[in-house]
Formats: sequence, C-alpha cells, structure tokens
Amino acid sequence: MNWYYVDQGQQTGPVSDAQFEELVRSGKVQPDTLIWREGMAAWVPYREAGNSSNPSGPTPPGSAGSVVGESPEAVCAECGKMFAIQDMIRHGGVYICANCKPVFMQKLAEGARINTNELNYAGFWVRFAAKFVDGLILGLPFMVVFFLMLVPQAHSGTPNQFNFLPLIFQFGFIFIQMAYEIIFLGKYGATPGKMLCKLRVVTADGGRIGYGRATGRFFSEMLSGMVCYIGYIIVAFDRQKRALHDYICNTRVIYK
Ligand SMILES: [Zn+2]
Repeated sequence: MNWYYVDQGQQTGPVSDAQFEELVRSGKVQPDTLIWREGMAAWVPYREAGNSSNPSGPTPPGSAGSVVGESPEAVCAECGKMFAIQDMIRHGGVYICANCKPVFMQKLAEGARINTNELNYAGFWVRFAAKFVDGLILGLPFMVVFFLMLVPQAHSGTPNQFNFLPLIFQFGFIFIQMAYEIIFLGKYGATPGKMLCKLRVVTADGGRIGYGRATGRFFSEMLSGMVCYIGYIIVAFDRQKRALHDYICNTRVIYK
C-alpha cells in the first residue's frame, strides 16, 4: 500500500506501510497532517484516517470513483497547505483555502486598485507603427510635390546658378513636421498615427501635455534620432517604456 502525505505544503510520497508507520512514530506525520492512499476519496487529516487506513477494510470502489477525473485536493496558493477542493474557492488557475480567503480577497482588491491607477504604457513596436503612419501621412504628399516641382526644373538646366529649391523643401518639410506634431499633440495628445494605434502622449501622472510640452518634445525628439536612434530604442528596455524625449519632457506614451 502506497501512502502520500503533505510535508510543508508539498505532496510527498509514495511511501510504504512500514515507512509510513515510521513517519507517524517519529512525529513527521502528525494527527492533523493531511494524508492519502490509493482507494481514499480525498485527503484527510491523519487522525480522521484511522478507519480507512486499515488495509483490511478497503473503501468501496464507488466512493473513489465519484472523484476520479480530477484530483480531489489542491494546494492553497496562499498558505501552501493542501485541502479538499470542495472546501476551497477558485480564482483563475489557483485555489484558496477557507482560512486564507479573507487575506486573498484583500490582496485582490488592492491589486485591482493598483492596476487601475497604473498607466498602460505603449511599447516599442506599436509606437514604431504609429510613427510609420505619421511618416506616410506627412511624407507621401511632400514627395509628390517635390518631384512635380524639381524634376522639370532639372531638365530645364541652369548650371551656373545654385539651386535653393531642395534646401527650401528640406526646411519646409521640417517646419510642416513641427507644426503637425505640436498642433496634434498639443490639442489632442496624439498625432493621427498615434490616434490610429490608440495611443496618447500624457504627462507622468496621465494628464494633458499641452502645446508647451508638445513643442519641447518635438525638439527633444531630434536628439532621440541621433546616434543610431538609440533614444527610440530604449523604449524597449525602459520600465515605463520611455524614449529619450519622454525622459527629457517627462512624458509617457500610453494606450487610451
Ligand atoms: Zn490557505
């Protein structure tokens, strides 16, 4: 006959009859230690197992059959002790014993409160996607205008004159980019790309950033683009998923 018992919250065994008797004699198995052997319907304290632990009086197969399929006991996620499942509450994948239920509920309530206060920071790839969309929105029309204006000019050919047009375009593009970023972030907290990705730029405590901070953020972001975009890449490693410009302006990018 194989015996199982709970030692410091851990199921232990199997042990033989002789070993089990030795465990009882040495005090390792106490009257309130949960024990189980084949044929028993559930884990019971040793003191209650007196009759059924007698090998000459096996439990009727029917009682064991009623709990077959799922193990009738589980370890309490709170105290680590083993109890019959019908005496426990289930939460997600874990079981909690009756004794620990109040403590567990308290923890759960606190956890839920913390979760709602916590901002849901947006990670690297979704922010990358938002940037990409903004890039398309800004870049595509500009490219079209650029080619429509410059290509015919190149063919007309004025070799002795320095052509300022590309330079004007370059600055014009930066200016439009700046206006786009500052107006959308200042007014709505999100550029169209960020809106599409359901993102929002907020202050550290979740408030509106306003035009001032949006302006600061635009210029700080220029730094993030320097040195292999390292200022952007750190988003992937930061606890609050901050880019360099988020650090400088104390902003966060969150899911709405
Ligand atoms: Zn417990």
